[in-house]
Amino acid sequence: MADFDTPKLKPYPEIPPIEIGAMAHSKPYVAKPNIQEKVGFPGELIDNWKQVAIDKMGELVDNSRALRVFLDSCVKCGACTDKCHYYLGTSDPKNMPVARQDLFRSIYRRYYTPAGKYFPSLVGARDLDQDVLDEWYSYFHQCSQCRRCSVYCPYGIDTAEISMAAREIMDTVGVGQKYCNEIIGKAQTIGNNLGLPQPALLNTLEGLEEDIEEETGVVVRLPLDQHGADILLIAPSADFFAEPHVDGLIGYAKVFHQAGLSWTISSYASEAANFGMFIGSYDNMQVLAQRIREAALELGVKRIVFGECGHAWRVAYNFLNTLAGPFDFLDPAYPMPQHICEVTYDLLQRNALRMDKSANDDMVLTFHDSCNVARASRMGNFEGGQLVIPREIIKASCNHFFDMPAHAIKEATFCCGGGGGLLTDDLVELRVKGSLPRMEALKQAVDEHGVTHMAAICAICKSQFSKILPYYGMEMDQVVSVHQLVSNAIQLGGDT
Ligand code: SF4
Ligand code: SF4
Repeated sequence: MADFDTPKLKPYPEIPPIEIGAMAHSKPYVAKPNIQEKVGFPGELIDNWKQVAIDKMGELVDNSRALRVFLDSCVKCGACTDKCHYYLGTSDPKNMPVARQDLFRSIYRRYYTPAGKYFPSLVGARDLDQDVLDEWYSYFHQCSQCRRCSVYCPYGIDTAEISMAAREIMDTVGVGQKYCNEIIGKAQTIGNNLGLPQPALLNTLEGLEEDIEEETGVVVRLPLDQHGADILLIAPSADFFAEPHVDGLIGYAKVFHQAGLSWTISSYASEAANFGMFIGSYDNMQVLAQRIREAALELGVKRIVFGECGHAWRVAYNFLNTLAGPFDFLDPAYPMPQHICEVTYDLLQRNALRMDKSANDDMVLTFHDSCNVARASRMGNFEGGQLVIPREIIKASCNHFFDMPAHAIKEATFCCGGGGGLLTDDLVELRVKGSLPRMEALKQAVDEHGVTHMAAICAICKSQFSKILPYYGMEMDQVVSVHQLVSNAIQLGGDT
């Protein structure tokens, strides 16, 4: 365990007293030159970095009207101050969303507003210097870009967009984050974040086929690079090996098998996650999105379906067509892209899957809404589908389901604490403390309803909870994949 105290779980959420500078020491490792250069950024801090950073900021506010409006419209009402899990868990006032925004806004005002140019001290404008850059590096890596604050802001100011812009500026001057940029480089050259080459992938999928046959007696295929399949599945690479992710992948395979759908995974585009979004880099997001397009064309598929990954779905749902479209070569009868939960939900609605809910009777379940799904995307063809569909799948798979308290679910959900490119061991203190509001809500569900397990549809949330739950006295296997529940309950073979 790292050298810090895990916060105490309280029966009800409390707004903590402020502790100035409590997390000033928290910084992720800086990317080395070879990592930076591989993804198109300078290897280290460039000589004329201040001017380049100021120019980049100008470019970003010119290109994004939303960003400029967010920077110009805050009235300091304070409604967001107690809404960020990183403030609630760390007490550091710079983790209040408005304070995080002001780290950026103060520089924007100095160089891009008349008042800031001529009367900087009157409008909270600051010169850009090394101290500011250090502060940015620390606190813009204490934002998981979860958008919770924007739900409570009367102007809808989205700190996530400001955080992405700040990270893009830092990358542009040569100060990038090791964890994100190393992963982006791997995904761009090998096809997935883990750097798994085709033979390793094939070996893994064949092993899973053997496991399923051993357990069920039914041959269920997990095809790789199968030309002419109808569906290209884009799963997060954690699904290929990590627990509980891999149980979700087995669930997708069983759904496809039982519905008689032909599908394949691509070794060329074997990653749903797109870390380009975390660093605000359109160019890097596009490289990964293009791989998906190329794989779909090469394999001749008719549909693209995404697995359980929150930010992957945010990128796919919002940007895939812009980044790599048009996808007019796919079958227009299906949404593009489609989420695996939409596929399963549709089959359940049509009674095309036979489920034995009692297979999950050893668990009492709750559901963690992943922020990128709940607040930054949709599912299905009805409003709020992204909140309803996963719950309906869980309820179709088990007999015992209870939601956590209302302030911590659906649009108000708390981030797991490890999203936004922060799922790295050099930030474990931040991750543990930032997960406090979610852990308190879970504990309430445990105490009130006897909840034993929490389901999620995000690869990062699952990894984060597996690591964090023991810090709070719970077991790492108390987090499960939604399609793991489906996998347990689905009845293979025979008539549906
Ligand atoms: S986007 Fe999320 S992590 Fe970032 S400041 Fe807002 S509430 Fe905090
Ligand atoms: S809620 Fe919105 S307007 Fe109010 S302080 Fe926060 S960012 Fe500013």
